[in-house]
Amino acid sequence: MKVTKKKPKKEREKMANKKSEKLIDKKGIRLDGRKVDELRPVKMDVGVLSNADGSAYLEQGRNKILVGVYGPKEAHPRHIAKQDRAVIQCRYHMAPFSVDERKSPAPSRRDVELSKVIREALEPAVFLEYYPRTSIQVYIEILQADGGTRCAGITAAALALADAGIPMRDLVVACAAGKAGGKIALDLMDTEDKVGEADVPVALMPNLNAITLLQMDGNLSVDEFNAAVDMALGGCKKLYELQKEALKSKYVSAEEAK
Ligand code: UDP
Repeated sequence: MKVTKKKPKKEREKMANKKSEKLIDKKGIRLDGRKVDELRPVKMDVGVLSNADGSAYLEQGRNKILVGVYGPKEAHPRHIAKQDRAVIQCRYHMAPFSVDERKSPAPSRRDVELSKVIREALEPAVFLEYYPRTSIQVYIEILQADGGTRCAGITAAALALADAGIPMRDLVVACAAGKAGGKIALDLMDTEDKVGEADVPVALMPNLNAITLLQMDGNLSVDEFNAAVDMALGGCKKLYELQKEALKSKYVSAEEAK
């Protein structure tokens, strides 16, 4: 059996610094050519599935995400029903071909956790009390993943809920910021997420100015954390403009065609 000795702490720190140095070059340019405060290219489409009540498709960099919404409809199994409001059943699922190494199609612990946090990020925006004893089903399929899929999933799910005609207080839009290569940076892609120091996903109801998801993975000082949250909120506001455009381009052009 080959036993490899763990490298001394100083050497490990040096290696980590070297790795993260490469994420952002001296001019402040990231591996994919972006500046630190730049979002990845985003594309959003609404009403892309004819069989679902509402749907949306979103690309953010290499992420490709499809969301289908059903309901409100009678809740099944019945014991999940709430007498005074609708429940949201949310499934975040990564397709086996969505990542480099084939992923089992069975839901992973991560899929289950993300389904829960995404549901909790969407719930405050929906007038659940209008539809007692019913369920609203949100299916988020990650077709291709490259970091930031929970945020992109929330942004797309809010569009699909709106497309289903479900009354909402506000849209929900999400974006992460973090620390990579020693700098606070917006919308981390997979390599920056894995090699970088920290990731802070944030979901926002932009008109109500209320945060519905805030997580942190990694280590940041208080000042860095505040800077990352501010940067993520800035990203949310830019994405919100694109969400509105996506909805308008479906519904305004359909109205004009009448
Ligand atoms: N990822 C992967 N295999 C997995 C789960 C995740 O390759 O089984 C990648 C994928 O690109 C994902 C990224 O790791 O987007 C970051 O995952 P994380 O759990 O931080 O969630 P996300 O940033 O996607 O919300």
